Amino acid sequence: MKLHDTHAHLLFPALADRLEQVLDNARRAGVLRITVPALGPDPAELARTLDFAARTPGITVIAGVHPHHASTSTQVFLDAVSASADRLVAWGEIGLDFHYDFSPRDVQAAVFAEQLDRARTAGLPVALHVREAHDETLALLREHPASQGSIVHCFTGDAKTAEKYLDLGFFISFSGIVTFPKALEVQEAARMVPADRLLVETDAPYLAPRTHRGRTCEPAYVLDTLLALAELRGDEPGALAAAAWDNGHRALAARGGGLELT
Ligand SMILES: [Zn+2]
Ligand SMILES: [Zn+2]
Repeated sequence: MKLHDTHAHLLFPALADRLEQVLDNARRAGVLRITVPALGPDPAELARTLDFAARTPGITVIAGVHPHHASTSTQVFLDAVSASADRLVAWGEIGLDFHYDFSPRDVQAAVFAEQLDRARTAGLPVALHVREAHDETLALLREHPASQGSIVHCFTGDAKTAEKYLDLGFFISFSGIVTFPKALEVQEAARMVPADRLLVETDAPYLAPRTHRGRTCEPAYVLDTLLALAELRGDEPGALAAAAWDNGHRALAARGGGLELT
């Protein structure tokens, strides 16, 4: 079984401090590709992440200003992301987070819209971070369309919401949240997303799946999420893993990221 963790913050201190071990655990679990976000707005973080990917086969990078950081977004960082487009597999994570509201909502919307337009110009799909703001996100996507192959990362909506993103051509990525006993709506969505549009991720170091509750999440645990999804959906785990791997390739790895962890 080969797995692609489509979203893990490998360079956050919780994982970066023991990176060799984390990558070794990933390999052992069959996790041979990992996509790492650079969140901005510090251009040095983008450079560091691209550098790490250039040195490590199997690592791909997405970059963009996270909605939490929208109020400190700078044109310098956005220009750096645009200039790095050929070394990125998507523009993200970008979107709206009305759960934490770390940046004012109108600022989040403006920075999100600008990045949707820049991603389209750069020919990049987007990776969305959306919390409690799906209606507003879908409205903005109608005015500022995303390229095919775009992703909703760490999906937290219900089946109806998933349907709307699927209609726009998005992939839906499930994290450890889908393994939480109380996440009934997310589980309902996970049952209906077609196998050719489903991705798996950890969002490490956050959101360890139920089987690893209380531990720092790491890419190896994406296996647990895949197995939980297969059980929920009544799919054979190997078949679902193969589908998710292919989807990860179409969404993220095809553009120059066809390597695997060695
Ligand atoms: Zn996120
Ligand atoms: Zn993230």
